[in-house]
Amino acid sequence: MSQTPPPQILDGKGLSERIKDEIASEVTEWTGQGHRAPHLAAVLVGEDGASKTYVDHKVRSCERVGFKSTMVLRPADISQRELLDIVHGLNEDPNIDGFIVQLPLPNHIDAQAITEAIDPTKDVDGFHPVNIGNLALGLPGFVPATPAGIITLLERFEVPTEGRHAVVIGRSSIVGTPMSLLLSRSGQPGNCTVTLCHSRTQDLQEHCLQADILIAAVGRPEMIKADMVKEGAVVVDVGITRVKDVTAKRGYRLRGDVAYDEVAPKCSWITPVPGGVGPMTIVSLLRNTLLAAKAKAEA
Ligand code: NAD
Repeated sequence: MSQTPPPQILDGKGLSERIKDEIASEVTEWTGQGHRAPHLAAVLVGEDGASKTYVDHKVRSCERVGFKSTMVLRPADISQRELLDIVHGLNEDPNIDGFIVQLPLPNHIDAQAITEAIDPTKDVDGFHPVNIGNLALGLPGFVPATPAGIITLLERFEVPTEGRHAVVIGRSSIVGTPMSLLLSRSGQPGNCTVTLCHSRTQDLQEHCLQADILIAAVGRPEMIKADMVKEGAVVVDVGITRVKDVTAKRGYRLRGDVAYDEVAPKCSWITPVPGGVGPMTIVSLLRNTLLAAKAKAEA
């Protein structure tokens, strides 16, 4: 009787450490040529626990690869004007190569206006319309960190994508939509036929069952069950939700969009949560910052 081979793990944690080593070597070479270390700034507004954790990881990763980093912390009641002034200040600061404004922002802040105020050449999150437009046209620019990290994951683990049917669930401008563009563009990884599903998609299960590559970026814990996944599929779980759990040390556990235990046995490749897409997002941000520093020095 033939048995399905066990799934291979798309280990973002391990891969991200190897890529950080590569970036650290590049930084050593760069500073050895007389340049200053790349410098990333992160603006964090308010006290959201998850956002604080993400920004802490980003700052610690900067130290790990030899970047300089600056945290700009502001209370949740900051005005739109004050936040715009901070963005303009970072745009003008010659010692900052790239910066991010951690999302989500409080409701009284117009997040789109803040994103659009960022100098596209310092927009290392790749959220500015200029960078999204460049991505759509296949032109050089900063690619949003999470989809870029997933592409690197597929590339480094040599997961074939050419001609495959990829189904992306979620159409946000920072994950699902750029992911669908990257998978469909001409290149390796790429050349997929892409279906983009979202909250108004009818019969999600039927679409998912067509997927050779399934990317779940919704934020609904364990919504992807085994009966939604084709045998042998590649499954990438972007979702991260804090689910209350009194038995856990921190009082919560992180859950992905995929019911891992039941889905994994059907997969050829699968990402764990945590340790899959999350760490890859951070290395993409570091990579974008290094690119920004080099582009600035050459301008
Ligand atoms: P979002 O809320 O902006 O978008 C969610 C998308 O899911 C929407 O486009 C919506 O149409 C779709 N959706 C909602 N309900 C659906 C349903 N029932 N069926 C199909 N589609 C549905 O979220 P986002 O910013 O794109 O993030 C998605 C998830 O990924 C979240 O859990 C977030 O925390 C996580 N995330 C992880 C990383 C990482 O580094 N691992 C980075 C960014 C986001």
